[in-house]
Amino acid sequence: FFFQAEDGIRDDLVTGVQTCALPILQRGHAGRNELVTVVRVIAIDGPAGAGKSTIAKALAARLHLDYLDTGAMYRAVTFAALRSELDLADEDAVASLARRVELEVGGRGVFVDGVDATSDIRGPQVTAAVSKVAANSGVRAEMRQRQQQWAAERGGGVIEGRDIGSVVFPDAELKLYLTASPRVRAERRVAEAGGDVDEIERSIAARDLLDSTRADSPLTEAAGSATVDTTGLTIPQVLDRILQLLEPA
Ligand code: C5P
Repeated sequence: FFFQAEDGIRDDLVTGVQTCALPILQRGHAGRNELVTVVRVIAIDGPAGAGKSTIAKALAARLHLDYLDTGAMYRAVTFAALRSELDLADEDAVASLARRVELEVGGRGVFVDGVDATSDIRGPQVTAAVSKVAANSGVRAEMRQRQQQWAAERGGGVIEGRDIGSVVFPDAELKLYLTASPRVRAERRVAEAGGDVDEIERSIAARDLLDSTRADSPLTEAAGSATVDTTGLTIPQVLDRILQLLEPA
């Protein structure tokens, strides 16, 4: 990026870290100055239990960026569909619900049409059904649009999910694919929320298979993404690796 101070453009906006979506002047493709909005997105994708949420939150705090858990959005739509007793195979009905449901996903928790769903979205019913809802193209189109709008309003953020680097923000500043061995991923889930490790490993494997084989935006390592295998690494070690990737070469 080439930032240039011009009339009316404050110096701190030109040289400082961009944390809000204010327009700034930037030298465009043809060498002309263009007024653009800097959106700083760090995309983190990967299978269930790879440590995405822990790392994404820590990274967001380090970089003074907001954090968005897009998995919680798909879980929230699933919660709404189950609550309305919709047939999840009725794609039109579920997509139409996704378009009208009011979602709040943030520090306060997860609210679905004003109802606190923070713990229910992590429960076994939602977890078992979410991959089916997430395979619905109408649902994905709506969530993608909300995610892009969320980032545009804040000048970016650290955003985790399955298709963030591949589909939602293919031009992200950094695209990460976090993974770990299936056993370690299951063990981490058990340490967080309890349960039987063999059973959790099977349920994670089933969800990963559905997520990576669906037709619309499957879980995949995005072009240009850096893969970090977190098996055997501590959280600070993973963070250090990522911060190194963010340093200019
Ligand atoms: O990240 P988490 O495990 O909470 O995600 C729950 C589910 O939401 C995933 O298994 C996947 O089906 C779906 N998902 C998705 N695309 C995203 C984020 C999550 O399809 N960007």
